[in-house]
Amino acid sequence: MNERHLQMLMAATGHYHGGIDGQIGPKSRQAMRDIEAAFRDRYTFDPTGSTEARREVAVAQACLDKLGHDPGAIDGWMGNNTTEALNGFLFKQATGKAEVIDRTPLAAPVGGGSIPTQAEVGRVYGSPGDQIKKRLVTIKLPFSLRIDWNLRQKATRITVHRDCADQLMAALVAVHAHYGPDRMRDLGIDRYAGAYNHRKMRGGNSWSMHAYGCAIDFYAEPNGLRTQCPEALFCGAAYKDFLDIMQDHEWLPAIRLWGKDAMHFQRARL
Ligand SMILES: [Zn+2]
Repeated sequence: MNERHLQMLMAATGHYHGGIDGQIGPKSRQAMRDIEAAFRDRYTFDPTGSTEARREVAVAQACLDKLGHDPGAIDGWMGNNTTEALNGFLFKQATGKAEVIDRTPLAAPVGGGSIPTQAEVGRVYGSPGDQIKKRLVTIKLPFSLRIDWNLRQKATRITVHRDCADQLMAALVAVHAHYGPDRMRDLGIDRYAGAYNHRKMRGGNSWSMHAYGCAIDFYAEPNGLRTQCPEALFCGAAYKDFLDIMQDHEWLPAIRLWGKDAMHFQRARL
């Protein structure tokens, strides 16, 4: 966690009144302890006994949450949701307005058949919140993925909408059969970066496809929200089969839908 950003966040929530100097001194530490106490119920881990680095991330997450930039769980891990929440905060600080991310469809349409369009997901999948939550299922993979923001942590369970689960299971089993575990690891395809998440779209006002349980992310850092081909890692030749397999199983790569956000795949077309 960048210490200046941490101080900016604590100042924006009214917990910190010192300088934005990146020096974590007594005032910064006191503000951190105050925020930990105020958000104790929301923490998904016990900050006492955790590293200072993890405590800083969690305090930043608590501030982002309070400021309306949804960071996901207050877990002290700097994942892609926290990173994008921070990006949203910094953009607003710098410009005074919310960032808008252009998602104009690419010329060639991708997907078809039984895949709903984004305009149809509310009708087909349900309303984000309680209704979607009742329709979520957890698939259990016969192999493990690594958690993208904490690589020592493994995941075998992924929570998605019941209407998308079989397709995702089949897609990931096919990816695993095609590449094998070592190659998946070398390419970073095994870096699972989140599926169901009740939140709004980044740089937009509508619900994220993640809030419908029909989206999944992999290996966020080199496949950013604003990164296009050829810069995005998943645009590389080694990843073509990965994208093809996902698409063949109705999980469409965003890099083929709107040409950015290569980490993202969704069972919804544009
Ligand atoms: Zn995503």
